[in-house]
Amino acid sequence: MSKIVFFSIPAQGHTNPTIPVVADLVNRGHQVWYYSFLKFQEKIEGAGATFIACDEFLPLLSQKELDRTVGKDFAALIEMVADTTIALDEKVCKGLRTIQPDCIVSDSLCFWGKLFAKKLEIPYICSTTSFAFNEYTAKLMKHSFMELWRMVLGMPRINKKIQLLKNHGYEVRNFVSIVQNDNKTDTIVYTSKEFQPMADTFSKRYAFVGPSIRHSPPVQNDKKDRKVVYISLGTVLNQNRDFYQNYIKAFANTDYDVVMSVGEKTKISSLGSIPGNFTVKNSVDQISILQIADVFITHCGMNSANESLYFGVPMVLFPQHSEQRMVADRVVELGIGLKLKWNKPKYLATAVAEVLENRTYYENAQRLSETFRKTGGAVEAADVILTKIREKSYQE
Ligand code: UDP
Repeated sequence: MSKIVFFSIPAQGHTNPTIPVVADLVNRGHQVWYYSFLKFQEKIEGAGATFIACDEFLPLLSQKELDRTVGKDFAALIEMVADTTIALDEKVCKGLRTIQPDCIVSDSLCFWGKLFAKKLEIPYICSTTSFAFNEYTAKLMKHSFMELWRMVLGMPRINKKIQLLKNHGYEVRNFVSIVQNDNKTDTIVYTSKEFQPMADTFSKRYAFVGPSIRHSPPVQNDKKDRKVVYISLGTVLNQNRDFYQNYIKAFANTDYDVVMSVGEKTKISSLGSIPGNFTVKNSVDQISILQIADVFITHCGMNSANESLYFGVPMVLFPQHSEQRMVADRVVELGIGLKLKWNKPKYLATAVAEVLENRTYYENAQRLSETFRKTGGAVEAADVILTKIREKSYQE
């Protein structure tokens, strides 16, 4: 029996794919601990792991600060990582010394998991729910002027925090060594090699296991002659009343059945009257809906894109920041979707009609879906972890 410790950030998109992996490891008789956040406690315990809450150690950010930081303000992100690492240092190092794990699996953005692994010399595996990232793919990230400007202004703040980490016993060469892994780091990537841009630039240590999709039956759909349009901006940057209202204007009382997930913080009553052909909810079972959807209007979160591709659903793309723009560009490059240029009802209707009527989008989506369905998903991810532990024990 092996002992495995997971770390992730408080984000659905980064936690959800790891849950079936945890469940698989536990089912195979291994012991798993998961440093995470209260909103995921039920899921994590449901998968059979021991949950350890980190909420009180995370800096309190207002929604406005969160909107500004997520994917947009690099210096603020590094500051948050350093502060969280130092706040967690005593609790986690004590916990890890007691558990004595065989391996730490940490999300690619949960840099503190990697820092703890390095400090305590525990084998480390990076878990990547976005595209794998290296110096080549970095060039594909189109940062907006504001993102670049904030990064330049933020360098002194970043350097100060790096020094603080060093003072606490963390070996950090520079900020690139925090955010990027080299070709020697074992990395699980939850997408297919076919979807990953520049896949050939990654070593064999990168396992493209495909999406780790939980099982959920398709929603009941009796009106098979009507097209189903599914709209979601994900679970983080999803407060965008204009966007939702424009879709209501574009598709009110049309022949489409529209399902719109507006996020937990959007008041559905603030969107005005909801037409009869719309179902608007704060959250939906996306896996169930994608199995009957004809087109997905998405913010291009990596999980949403992966899930859409898995079920062969073409997309209309509305990315919000550089990582999502990279996903959108790849979907466009593969001929599976169309990027929205304007958020205006007339244009939205045209874009959706184009993706629905031009069969090439659907056919390309089906082609990629086949490659996704050939990947091993959560079981393969668990295999990667156990192989690393076995290799390590042979070396000792
Ligand atoms: N999701 C869901 N119901 C919703 C909206 C989203 O189940 O109403 C899930 C979706 O299936 C995906 C995750 O939340 O697994 C969103 O992750 P993604 O990386 O796409 O975007 P993020 O929320 O991180 O921006």
